[in-house]
Amino acid sequence: MVLLDGKKIAEDIKIELRQALAQIQDAGEKVPHLATILVGDMAASQTYVRNKMKACEEVGIKASLFHFPATITAEELVQKVEKLNQNPEIDGFFVQLPLPAHLNAEMITLAIDPRKDVDGFHPENLGKMMLDLPCFLPATPFGITEILRRYNIETSGKNCVVIGRSHIVGMPMGLLMSRNHPQGNCTVTVAHSRTKNLKEVTRNADILIVAIGKADFVTADMVKEGAVIIDVGINRVQTTDGKSKIKGDVHFESVAPKCAYISPVPGGVGSTTVIALLMNTFRAAKGKKELTTS
Ligand code: NAD
Repeated sequence: MVLLDGKKIAEDIKIELRQALAQIQDAGEKVPHLATILVGDMAASQTYVRNKMKACEEVGIKASLFHFPATITAEELVQKVEKLNQNPEIDGFFVQLPLPAHLNAEMITLAIDPRKDVDGFHPENLGKMMLDLPCFLPATPFGITEILRRYNIETSGKNCVVIGRSHIVGMPMGLLMSRNHPQGNCTVTVAHSRTKNLKEVTRNADILIVAIGKADFVTADMVKEGAVIIDVGINRVQTTDGKSKIKGDVHFESVAPKCAYISPVPGGVGSTTVIALLMNTFRAAKGKKELTTS
């Protein structure tokens, strides 16, 4: 079994980005600038934002935070988004999700200029992704394709099962795995909460990508011998000593011995998600919105 070390991949890409940014600076060009909109005081969101800004600093991307109270109205937030759309200093920005209940994430996403939508959630980018046109890929699926690429995992002709159909992970992931591309050409099944006989479906997967949000959901009996397992889940669970820890959607201890490759949690997909955002920001600044990751 090979561990898919997302942390190591993220470090490798940071080195590559740092070198590319040094060249930009040497040429006297503008340093890429990523802005973050954070609404409210959710601890998890604050941690995610901090990690993203820290990663920016590490590679030399300028990072700015626009933090608004949870009481901000939809109209006010759209105005803030429009200001960032028009600000030539900002190359890309994203709104940290989830938003407070009174704010509609789809509506806010629609207000973002697709050329600055480094999260790749705007319908224009999602539509272009479907048409195989240059666009920003959603960060988590983009990061997963980087893992597959950097570990030289053969995907062509394989059966790929994605569990979960969210707009940010499952759906775009299924689409990317089915496209005609070196990290694609799979026969894809997108399973979800209404899927019948899930175990039969997953046991047929050469590549199983799990984005469901339930700790230890996928067990050894659901997995084919020699499969590639990508665990997207981030679930905080209580431990017996009264503390808590992060667990994936896959029961690692029982599944790992059975498979060819597996991504751990933490240290797998989470690390490449952050880095994919930075890669999109770099491309936004360079005006090179390529669909391919190579
Ligand atoms: P979501 O809640 O939007 O979607 C979960 C999906 O799971 C749904 O489409 C649902 O149909 C499916 N599902 C629920 N119960 C099921 C069942 N019994 N059988 C089959 N399918 C079922 O979640 P999401 O936003 O896609 O996130 C999924 C997980 O991935 C969460 O743990 C989240 O924290 C994590 N996540 C991680 C990263 C990362 O960078 N590693 C990024 C995004 C999300």
